[in-house]
Amino acid sequence: MNSASANGTFRCCIAGGGPAGIMLGYLLARTGVEVVVLEKHNDFLRDFRGDTIHPSTMEVLQQLGLLQNFLQRPHTRLEIARVRFGEKHYTIADFSTLQVTCPYVAFMPQWDFLDFMSQAAQRYPNFTLRMNTEATGLIEVDGKVVGVNVSTAQGSEQLHADLVVGADGRHSILRTASGLHVQNIGASMDVLWMRLDKGESSDEAVFARMTAGRILVTIDRGDYWQCAYVLPKGHYEELKSRGMTGFRSNIAKVAPALKDQLHTLKDWDDISLLSVRVDRLEQWWRPGLLFIGDAAHAMSPVGGVGINLAIQDAVAAANALVPPIRLGQMDNGILTAIQKRREPATQKTQSMQVLIQNRLLRKVIDGAVAPPLPMRLLNAIPCLRRYPARAIGLGIQPEQVAIGRYFVDASGG
Ligand SMILES: Cc1cc2nc3c(=O)[nH]c(=O)nc-3n(C[C@H](O)[C@H](O)[C@H](O)COP(=O)(O)OP(=O)(O)OC[C@H]3O[C@@H](n4cnc5c(N)ncnc54)[C@H](O)[C@@H]3O)c2cc1C
Repeated sequence: MNSASANGTFRCCIAGGGPAGIMLGYLLARTGVEVVVLEKHNDFLRDFRGDTIHPSTMEVLQQLGLLQNFLQRPHTRLEIARVRFGEKHYTIADFSTLQVTCPYVAFMPQWDFLDFMSQAAQRYPNFTLRMNTEATGLIEVDGKVVGVNVSTAQGSEQLHADLVVGADGRHSILRTASGLHVQNIGASMDVLWMRLDKGESSDEAVFARMTAGRILVTIDRGDYWQCAYVLPKGHYEELKSRGMTGFRSNIAKVAPALKDQLHTLKDWDDISLLSVRVDRLEQWWRPGLLFIGDAAHAMSPVGGVGINLAIQDAVAAANALVPPIRLGQMDNGILTAIQKRREPATQKTQSMQVLIQNRLLRKVIDGAVAPPLPMRLLNAIPCLRRYPARAIGLGIQPEQVAIGRYFVDASGG
């Protein structure tokens, strides 16, 4: 842990050491802003929550001069996304068409990415990362947020900051404490995440497998498949009541080539339920407080874009915050501008996700025997495949780091 502030007062205090919080912490630290990131866990090693590093994130790393080192870490690459429906393959996205430094989606455990970014940030003496430190509430004076209450193994304390950023994810405590209104957009499905050893199986690398009534996402992670089984919202207990044998046979039906590996699913502890939710704050800020990432807008797993949006939020926030925060001139206009910049992309992405989950995926899990029309079109007309690649790989509003404008190398090197 670096220590930037002896008296518990920072320019910026970020609650949450996920992709949004760590990236924002790094971006502020590199411009000399005294920033603390609070992470309630002791390390970045915890449940699977997406391993995708998008081309737009790698563009950001390139702009920061971090890409080469980052790509030294073990990862796999996806250039073409194929889906298998029954016996037939459908190509649905071609990332190699993107005009970017890394025209592919990289798969790397999220903890590796967070570890990489936090190590890079800790080169700056004005960056503090406090693990095992949970933000438990807001400190307010005359309606303005001026800090957070935190809980640590040593007890409670108060941290003060010119700006508090809630990057504490979809179950954000600070969001609840803020009293800001959350708009629930709804989700019609849930997802079960699990690992399947590859064993001797030499099944082809397809991104998802579908058959009437069943969808299994299969992300190739080298020696195992990271799998997501899609089910109608609220049906988990019913599925569970039919037993593990019934569940294994569901998977075998949608992915026959994986049936010899299903013994690795021993009991329900090997499976995590992601209760899908799609929501967003109507207003992303209050005086002295800003929300970004999942804390501002929980995303559906459709398209695997939550991490991308979280990072793009961090970049946009840093671009807007650095000059005023360094001068101690934070005001509500800046927070409004950040929301205005990021909200349209969030809204459009969530609308697309809801459309795909309700109109396309739901039809398949309800028993449609033919692949959805867009899948057939993308497969038949290759030039269309750049559009999903762009939406997933870059997002609707890719952000550029404001290189050079405010940069001071606070590390002195
Ligand atoms: C099972 C699963 C699979 C997913 N798959 C993908 C995928 O393939 N691709 C993709 O792009 N997205 C995926 N997502 C979504 C993605 O994980 C999120 O959109 C993304 O991580 C959001 O980043 P964030 O930094 O806003 O929040 P989070 O990643 O949720 O990070 C929040 C951090 O804050 C910490 N925290 C929480 N409360 C506090 C507190 N009070 N004080 C201090 N720290 C706190 C948490 O421990 C966590 O480290 C998946 C999510 C899940 C759950």
